Amino acid sequence: MTVYNFCAGPAMLPKEVMQKVQSELLDWQNTGCSVMEMSHRSPEFIEVYEQAVAGLKSLMKIPDDYSVLFMQGGGRGQFSSVPLNLKKNGKAHYVTTGLWSEDAVVEGNKFLTVEEQDCRVVVNGKTSILPLAEWNVSEESDFIHYCLNETVDGIEIFESANQLLVTRDVPRVIDMSSNILSRVIDVTDYDLIYAGAQKNIGPSGMAIVIINNALLNRSSESVPTFLNYAITKAKDSMYNTPPTFAIYLSKLVFDWLQKNGGVEAIEQKNRDKAAILYQAIDNSELYENRVAEQNRSLMNVTFYLKDESLNQCFIDEAKANGIVAIEGHRSVGGMRASIYNAMPIEGVKALVEFMKTFELKHKTK
Ligand SMILES: *Cc1c(COP(=O)(O)O)cnc(C)c1O
Repeated sequence: MTVYNFCAGPAMLPKEVMQKVQSELLDWQNTGCSVMEMSHRSPEFIEVYEQAVAGLKSLMKIPDDYSVLFMQGGGRGQFSSVPLNLKKNGKAHYVTTGLWSEDAVVEGNKFLTVEEQDCRVVVNGKTSILPLAEWNVSEESDFIHYCLNETVDGIEIFESANQLLVTRDVPRVIDMSSNILSRVIDVTDYDLIYAGAQKNIGPSGMAIVIINNALLNRSSESVPTFLNYAITKAKDSMYNTPPTFAIYLSKLVFDWLQKNGGVEAIEQKNRDKAAILYQAIDNSELYENRVAEQNRSLMNVTFYLKDESLNQCFIDEAKANGIVAIEGHRSVGGMRASIYNAMPIEGVKALVEFMKTFELKHKTK
């Protein structure tokens, strides 16, 4: 039976990439060693690192006045790194749109004063996000922070940061942990983009940071060294031993994306996949999605069974049919299908088929 893994993270990786990793795990490029067993200072590994940086730059069209950093501690590490490095006057604007941005506020408050704005609007049981032009960000803020895709809630922001009314003097920081590389964005609309790797890129534990070089001079010496952007940049992400295997795997995922037409092509596939799933939910009597259309995530499709007593039965039967990790996050309940770049359209079709069969079966009972 084919198994489709809808886990929100760590998430499935492209099969082709995993097969390549397997084939060269014990003997990487005729070195007789695994890439895991090699010095991060070796010319062989430096080449992988440089190709990973170049690959991401090419895929996201990152200009030369931005740097790509590989950091440790995943997405949450950045919840600390961002305020520690970017703090200037001591106040920052944090927009909350779901669980992840709320958690970023808790961490941010440890290092500065967070001015929080909850931008969720609920109408007829559907949540949408206030248009960016209505976010009231003070010019005095050290930066503005928000999350482009709320992984738990299935809420995504599609407007560009250019819709904000605040000037570029306030740096724009976004958490793209669960939608980086899923669709085209203009990197220059932002000043710092970060993402934990385990949703759309590679193994967990690593974060990718894309930073406008103009921000690097904000990192004071008091910032813990391994979280310090300026030092990470100066040391080519190798102040401490980097997660070499994660960087290697990321490079392979970047190659895979490039080979398949880059971000433009994957965006079209992602839009197709999400459309199939949302349509199936909207056309059913059993399932419902609670996000307004303009903010429905392309990566994390959340839905509820109108008869919640069927939840466990749905999860169990799904699993028996090769649909795994479909349960929603414990904080919000319901179901969640994470359909990141690596999820083939066949997986989404299999899920929709299962959902239809399940609905029919339980309607007639
Ligand atoms: C998963 C996730 C994180 C946290 O990542 P960790 O690597 O577990 O620290 C942060 N933000 C968002 C939006 C996420 O989806």
